[in-house]
Amino acid sequence: MAWWNGPALICIGTAPFAVIAFFTGQWAFAVGACLAISSYYGFYEYIHWCMHLPKARRVEKPWWFRKLNGHHLLHHRYMHKNFNVVLPLADLCLGTLMPRAKNHFAQAQGPAVPNVQPIA
Ligand SMILES: [Zn+2]
Repeated sequence: MAWWNGPALICIGTAPFAVIAFFTGQWAFAVGACLAISSYYGFYEYIHWCMHLPKARRVEKPWWFRKLNGHHLLHHRYMHKNFNVVLPLADLCLGTLMPRAKNHFAQAQGPAVPNVQPIA
């Protein structure tokens, strides 16, 4: 993504909380939301970078990274599926979740890359 996408998404995500804070005077609410959204975005950028440039980092070892890496690998194969990188909840809710490939394809291999080929 372009450099300005991160700040723009953080501002868009924080805006509803800022509106609530404006009317309630609870600015800590908006600051907390901004910090949470910024952390989420920062984590997204970092693990996405690790997925595309694997170097056997510590973050690439846990089971959840391997699972998310397979999820994201399928996104690049099927561009209208598996949009979420960090938390596939929206994919589950919006019907874009794809746990395995529909057809066999030449997929990336590595210790942090699960087999996402069809079971049959
Ligand atoms: Zn990617």
